Amino acid sequence: MTVAEQQIDIENLWQRVEEQPIDAKSRRRFQQLLRACHDSLGTTDTDLLERAFQLAYWAHAGIHRADGDPFIYHPLEVAQIVATDIPFDEVTVAAALLHDVVEDNLVATVQLIEAQFGQDLALIVDGLTKIERSFDSIAVRQAENFRKLLLSMASDIRVILVKFADRLHNMRTISSLPEEKQYKIAIETRDLFAPLAHRFGLFTLKNDLEDLSLKVLDPEAFYIIKRNLRAKKRERQRYVDRFIGPIRRALEDAGLQFDIYGRPKHIYSIYRKMQQQGKTLQEIYDLFAIRVVVHTDGRQGKEDCWRAYSIITDSYQPLPERFRDFISVPKANGYKSLHTTVLGHDGKPVEVQIRTREMHEVAEMGVAAHWKYKEGDESDRMSEWDRRFAWVRELLDNPDADRATEFVQEFQHDLSGEEIYVFSPRGDLFILPHGATPVDFAFHIHTEVGLQCKGAKVNNKFVPLSHKLKSGDQVEVNTSKSKSPNAGWMQFVVTQKARSRIRHYLNNEQRTTVRAGEEIWEKKARKAQIDISDTELRRYATKLRFPNLEQMHLEIGKGLFNPDELVKLIAETEEKRAREAAGEDADLLQLQHERFLDQAQSGAPALMIDGERVTDIAITYAACCNPIPGDEVIGYLSRNGGIKIHRTTCRNVPNLLQNEDRIVPISWSRQKDMQFMAGLRVMGEDRVGIVNEITEVISKSLKTNIRSLVVDAEDGVFDGTIVLDVNDLEHLRKLMARLQNIGGIHGVYRFTENTPA
Ligand code: MN
Repeated sequence: MTVAEQQIDIENLWQRVEEQPIDAKSRRRFQQLLRACHDSLGTTDTDLLERAFQLAYWAHAGIHRADGDPFIYHPLEVAQIVATDIPFDEVTVAAALLHDVVEDNLVATVQLIEAQFGQDLALIVDGLTKIERSFDSIAVRQAENFRKLLLSMASDIRVILVKFADRLHNMRTISSLPEEKQYKIAIETRDLFAPLAHRFGLFTLKNDLEDLSLKVLDPEAFYIIKRNLRAKKRERQRYVDRFIGPIRRALEDAGLQFDIYGRPKHIYSIYRKMQQQGKTLQEIYDLFAIRVVVHTDGRQGKEDCWRAYSIITDSYQPLPERFRDFISVPKANGYKSLHTTVLGHDGKPVEVQIRTREMHEVAEMGVAAHWKYKEGDESDRMSEWDRRFAWVRELLDNPDADRATEFVQEFQHDLSGEEIYVFSPRGDLFILPHGATPVDFAFHIHTEVGLQCKGAKVNNKFVPLSHKLKSGDQVEVNTSKSKSPNAGWMQFVVTQKARSRIRHYLNNEQRTTVRAGEEIWEKKARKAQIDISDTELRRYATKLRFPNLEQMHLEIGKGLFNPDELVKLIAETEEKRAREAAGEDADLLQLQHERFLDQAQSGAPALMIDGERVTDIAITYAACCNPIPGDEVIGYLSRNGGIKIHRTTCRNVPNLLQNEDRIVPISWSRQKDMQFMAGLRVMGEDRVGIVNEITEVISKSLKTNIRSLVVDAEDGVFDGTIVLDVNDLEHLRKLMARLQNIGGIHGVYRFTENTPA
């Protein structure tokens, strides 16, 4: 379906919603709701509420509650509670009307609500639906989880307000449910909802929730207390009137505008006191409190509270240890009042609460009242977000900074979504970090589930494995034994567990593949009758440009590299070696030697005859002994007029000396910048790295230029010919000594014809 078609569909649907007949009784109840909204919120967006009512009516059509009432009464009542007890705004009332729509009627999806009512309302209803769904989870029944869950899903504070109202109405109508269910819901209400309502400053609602849960959990105690309170109502009223009399006059005389009345404590608080202090009902004295609400607000109101306190304690003796100043130091939830306990005319302690009207509304309606008082003034300039959390900021401004800050930080932490709350299809709750994916979820459940994770469904829709989960999502993971993690998963998983398990798996997989590749190669090698050492194999791997042997095996294992290529390379190399062994290598050495001699003999003249530098005589260096500066040399005048230089140790010298007149005494000039070529033969054991060590010594440690290096190794014997540039004999000797010191080198010789073969 295209977006346009969907639009038409929604419009058709909406037409049906608008045209449905609505029964008179439901209509009357709705009118009542509108009046309540008008009373508490002032102006009312009647159109918004009408449309919300119509949609709710349509969505719940034909559905009844456990008590037999049409279901629509429930959202109407919840909306009524919102409108009267926690009047926030009309969007909250509309959300209350729609809060069960998605649960009960799948056609009326969140999308339809968004199309008709905008994103704000759609998000609130979505949050409510997710919270509702989550109550099947056992884990949610831990208070801390519950609080976090609620806050994380309630990106909008209004979600929580509607949730409270919903719970209150469900508690009021709980008697039609089976006993077991009643019990479960009552415990949930007492342990989860009431404390949270208290944190939000919704005192009246909290008291109602507590009383209603007590009625289910300990009906006997509930009715005893209730009956007693009623029976003593007249007596109590007389007492209150007598107590109030003198202070009412004194307050009037002081010119204060105020209300004063006695208020019975709620049943649950009396019950708890009996339990905690082990007292009978008769022993509980403070079954009620006196409340003074002054009609002034702001600074004046605060002063009036203190004046009232002073006047009251003039009439009755206060108990100093029971005094509390919640005006200077409000409670974290914003509650402000002066509390004092005084001794009444009969000596019984009586609690007195003193507050302004504004403080009173906050005390009764908490969050909602904060909102209301912010509305008038600077709210126009505030962003939507700021407005929504103005009350949180107000908490920050109060002097009880530690607790307030803590609460706000917790709240903001939860809202920033560092953790998300998702559910398994069975309704189990899982807490995951922000950005978690179905793969994280799968590993969180069990390593095996993660390793075999094949696909995922979120809220019954297929999603990619990299899909980012949101709080309230219901996540289902499909597994398959043939599935396994791939390296791509590392790109999107966020949990430590998933990361480490995937990495572990991939490493394992690599090891297995390397082993498999090794086996493939070994089989291949046996078949091709190749028998080479690991060292050699590594050399071939390098030749094939693999960084190491493992990588070659891995690629063979993965089928990325065909080992036949390796077989071919080895065969070719072997063949070449065989040729060399058959004599060609000797020729090669000879060739190298000859080239060396050619070059050596073209060396520049640096000789002195009788202290005179030789410049005009052709000088050649004898090929038999290759002299270099520093060598003891003699010159031999040849027939063509040139001088041939021999080392004095040369085996030909004795012969030459017979023609004494041709001998020219000669010495080396001290010219240092001249380089001579020298040849060395190095012999020793053929071991790994020996060539590297030789070149290291020559070129790095002695900064000597290597012209050529020919190495031949066979049957573990190493035989190398090195041609290099040296400055003089001293340089060459040093070099030879160093080479001699390399482990496994047996001999280093000047490269002349009389070196041992
Ligand atoms: Mn409901």
